[in-house]
Amino acid sequence: MKPLELYIHIPFCIQKCLYCDFRSAPSTKEERQEYVLELCRQIRTYRKTAGDYHIVSIFVGGGTPSILEGEQIRGIFGAIRDTFVVDEDAEITIEMNPGTVTEEKLKVYREAGIDRLSIGLQSAENEELKILGRIHTYEEFLDTYRLAREMGFGNVNVDLMSAIPGQTAAGWEKTLRKVAGLRPEHISAYSLIIEEGTPFYEKYGKARDDADALRDDPLPDEEEERQMYRSTKKILGEYGYQQYEISNYALPGYECRHNLGYWDRTEYLGIGLGASSLLHNRRWDFGEEPVALSIQEQMEEYMFLGLRKTEGVSRSKFAGEFGRGLDEVYGNVLRKMYELGLLEETGDLVRLTERGIDVSNMVMCEFLLG
Ligand code: SF4
Repeated sequence: MKPLELYIHIPFCIQKCLYCDFRSAPSTKEERQEYVLELCRQIRTYRKTAGDYHIVSIFVGGGTPSILEGEQIRGIFGAIRDTFVVDEDAEITIEMNPGTVTEEKLKVYREAGIDRLSIGLQSAENEELKILGRIHTYEEFLDTYRLAREMGFGNVNVDLMSAIPGQTAAGWEKTLRKVAGLRPEHISAYSLIIEEGTPFYEKYGKARDDADALRDDPLPDEEEERQMYRSTKKILGEYGYQQYEISNYALPGYECRHNLGYWDRTEYLGIGLGASSLLHNRRWDFGEEPVALSIQEQMEEYMFLGLRKTEGVSRSKFAGEFGRGLDEVYGNVLRKMYELGLLEETGDLVRLTERGIDVSNMVMCEFLLG
């Protein structure tokens, strides 16, 4: 049996954050119940596929999965365990937002085998939370975090966001230090991206023009943003966190196995509205037809995803996977990137340098073979 990661998508939120372009929306109780029943039905349709695999990790993401009642989560995990062979030591994560979590729900999570919580905080400054349109305050996050610890959860991630409108490098540092001081096992720190179709796009779509400088809460400029990114590694390092991916930091031994599997191109099955899958080198978004990836596309993905990890890409694994050496396929690109100081090599591994991380999108484009 081969390893498989399972992703379950819950597309509901209390209200839409002003920057969010994820597939999520407010909903009624009835809509949620209907969705959960359909989700359970869909999960059970994979019984045949399930025979070839054992589940190494499950990630219930959103949206805000913690909006569901405990009973609904119990139902989803009942369907999963009836259908799939789940490893005893599988990493099982659920995403949650402060203000939607109760002791009762956490109890159900434990009974269902969930052993990792991922809490969406974004900022420890209430003013910034308000600007983002979040439903909670920092104090409400603290209540959720403490409750999770009291209920015995020993593996907690906190999601943070930098480059928030009006944020300064000093403000970001304050958030990092407050959160790191709580000692969650994992911290994800992403930079705000202004996505089309969001209220933030309306307000900041033409950001960094003259009008932006006059706003009360302007976006940090590119240099400030880079400064925040660099300070993240330094500050979290002081608290014992190691960066293992462009935006992810963990105490030793607590790297997110589900995410690592994704960057290593472990096969995964996504169930639910906004979920995507990679099985037998075919990719698809939920409800769409699978598309077979050519060898060229597989190599490109291998590089894009692998280079996100600070460890980098293994030459021997690349050769093992594709039957061709990295130099044979990408020799010219590697030479150019080494010369520019954007990639470096240690033994078997090729990775981004700090400068390379600054311009990672540009570096990744170099690995397109078309
Ligand atoms: S809680 Fe998350 S998924 Fe929901 S609207 Fe906010 S950012 Fe989007």
